[in-house]
Amino acid sequence: MKRRDIIKGLSLLPLSGGIIGGIFTSKTVFSESKQKRDRRDLFEELGVTKVINAGVTMTFLSGSLMMPEVLDAINSTSHDFANMFDLQDKVGAKIAEMLQCEDAMVTSGAACAMVLGTAAAITGKDPEKIKLIPNLPGPRPEVIMLKSHRYLFDQAITTTGATIIEVAGPDEMDKAFNSNTVLALFYNAAGSSSVSHEEFIALCKKHNIPSFIDAAADVPPVENLFKYQKMGFDLVTFSGGKMIRGPQSAGLLFGRKDLIEAAKLNHSPHEAPIGRPMKVNKEEMFGMYAALKSYLERNHQQEWDGWLERIEKIKKKVTQVESVQGETYINPGPANAFPTLYVTWDQEIVKMTANDAQAALQKGTPSIVTNVTTKDGSKVLSVGVVLLRPDQIDIVARRVREVLKHAI
Ligand SMILES: *Cc1c(COP(=O)(O)O)cnc(C)c1O
Repeated sequence: MKRRDIIKGLSLLPLSGGIIGGIFTSKTVFSESKQKRDRRDLFEELGVTKVINAGVTMTFLSGSLMMPEVLDAINSTSHDFANMFDLQDKVGAKIAEMLQCEDAMVTSGAACAMVLGTAAAITGKDPEKIKLIPNLPGPRPEVIMLKSHRYLFDQAITTTGATIIEVAGPDEMDKAFNSNTVLALFYNAAGSSSVSHEEFIALCKKHNIPSFIDAAADVPPVENLFKYQKMGFDLVTFSGGKMIRGPQSAGLLFGRKDLIEAAKLNHSPHEAPIGRPMKVNKEEMFGMYAALKSYLERNHQQEWDGWLERIEKIKKKVTQVESVQGETYINPGPANAFPTLYVTWDQEIVKMTANDAQAALQKGTPSIVTNVTTKDGSKVLSVGVVLLRPDQIDIVARRVREVLKHAI
């Protein structure tokens, strides 16, 4: 009998536990149907597919899932108003204390932190400049970057009206500083750097120009949250919604107090400045604070071991398919420095490519997003585990096995 029929049948019976107790307890029947009514599924309501993220933190997949304590912070603070100037100051002071630096603020992501940090370097606390940016009179402000550090996100720098001056090495960098220079930006996860972190900072200090490092995706390890301000960078940014698992629409900008103060003047809740379209509300601020606190207090070794266990679990299942092999790959970082499972197979036996498997997993039910990467010149299926909910580990293992087995 179908479940629907049972329920239909039950409605004809007198609803006493005594009669239906042999099949269900009345409690089960009622709580199940009540749950169905109460649990509004907005994914379903809007026709949006839920996705299992067996990849890395990606903004197009909504980043990461917030920690329960972050959701608590958001929910428990959403019923009261707050003065946003006061909240940003207090949250910033607390974050600065946690990160052992002078000052900090919550931004709407690392890209926003780059806009605000650059704007701060351009305007200082000058109200006239804050009003005019990005249309200041005179020559364009200049931001120095290494040639090998140019990347997609540096558009956040030119959003302020600044222009990027590329340099190839330490000598060129030394000569690039002039009266229009406002900032130098270091991209931490760049493939190569002809100038080391230390040399970069030293050159900036020599010319009395602030140095800024973008380390958006560079935890774990947790130590990185302290490393760059200790080295001497004047400004540091991390995304809030990557492995710190705060709100996806939050980020951290921290470092020198005068620069953070200037960055705040360029941001919401002020009415008109360049940062106004990058508003951060109190939920993100409380949420970001709770996320950072939780991240710093976490047992990182235990978390890491848990990831390795997940990999072993999935590996054990998928290697039951003929010729399929699994290998634990530890990304050396600085970005996404965590373990991932690489899955390979003999394509004479399992007749599909890594891209075919990736597409099948994505099209399947549930939809699972994995990555394809190149190892020793051939493509491998990369199955990420760090963003899976505990109940999704078996689902991913089963689906990868099914997809590969199906191609035999
Ligand atoms: C993700 C990322 C950004 C953008 O960060 P958001 O928090 O999404 O704004 C900037 N730089 C790097 C290196 C990143 O990885």
